[in-house]
Amino acid sequence: MKKISKYYKCRIYPNKKQIELFETNFVAYAYVYNKSKLIYEKEYKENLKSGKKVVYSNKYFYDILKQLLKENNHLKQVDKIILIDAYHRLLDSINNYKTGLSQKPKFIKKTSTQSFRLQCTSKDKLKCKRLYLNDYGTFKLHDKREIQGKLKEVIIKKHNSQWFIILKCSDISITEYPKTNKKVGIDLGIKNLIIMSDGKSIKPPNISKIESKINKYNRKLSKQKENSKNYQKTVLMLHKLYIKRTNIIEDNLHKIAMEIVKDYDFIAMESLDIRNMIKNRRYSHSIYNMNWARLIKLIKINAELNNKTFIQIPQSYPSTKTCSNCKTINNNVTIDVREWECPKCNTYHDRDINAAKNILYKAIEMS
Ligand SMILES: [Zn+2]
Repeated sequence: MKKISKYYKCRIYPNKKQIELFETNFVAYAYVYNKSKLIYEKEYKENLKSGKKVVYSNKYFYDILKQLLKENNHLKQVDKIILIDAYHRLLDSINNYKTGLSQKPKFIKKTSTQSFRLQCTSKDKLKCKRLYLNDYGTFKLHDKREIQGKLKEVIIKKHNSQWFIILKCSDISITEYPKTNKKVGIDLGIKNLIIMSDGKSIKPPNISKIESKINKYNRKLSKQKENSKNYQKTVLMLHKLYIKRTNIIEDNLHKIAMEIVKDYDFIAMESLDIRNMIKNRRYSHSIYNMNWARLIKLIKINAELNNKTFIQIPQSYPSTKTCSNCKTINNNVTIDVREWECPKCNTYHDRDINAAKNILYKAIEMS
């Protein structure tokens, strides 16, 4: 039996006093994040110009925090762990940006999703869907699932004026999926979300119904007087629909990731360069990018949990243009070519299945 950690996201309805405490933390968190970002960006530019070598490490940002604490009394009433977390998040985003995993870090605005993290101690208790946090009081957790494991940390989140608590629980026992001895390469697409080297494919979640509802309410909104009562009603409805859409997509991606890890012992996928994808107009629709990145992450996590092999091949590998039979590179395979015949060995290829096969072969080579 293997032990894992798990996250549970539960809706909460905090009281006035709790909201006040949360908001104070949000303000301090955003302040440290945004100030550190400003200072970092200024010094980064200056040091680049002057050629001064600086390591932008935890220590670098901790020193900034120490300075901010000296200068700002309002930060002193907030748990220091929360403030340390703020620059950790900034440092992660900076590193992700530098390695091409995400976009340039943005400032935290008042309208952004707000969140902060708390480490749990023995004073915090979780019992029968009621969570007691020593510094904040009791919360009734609204979630259908049974919450298992030992409480480690909580994240308080405010999204579209709704409040959530995300619980991280550890020591949950799971049984691994049995071995199947099967290997697969996976190509990601738009019409088919997933195309596998054995020819199978999986369609993206069907969100057309909810999308048309969102469009309907957006049209309605454009005709309403800004900030009128009806306008605000429509905004609220839209928020609800956006959350619903996210949930449908998320559920679907979880299911797909589980099925793939159940079916295969060796899973090969591409690496994504989010920066490049955003530059490339054809794929600039953010939902595809987000789904792909999320799916890769979920498959990776699931594979690790179940002791299966997961390999990502480098972005530079020409998986689409290479003939999976004789390895000839065919530069005539442009973005619109769906099927092609290899000029050397005459194998007839479906563009995506051929790419998936190449992804698998390259991963086997790398393993
Ligand atoms: Zn060939």
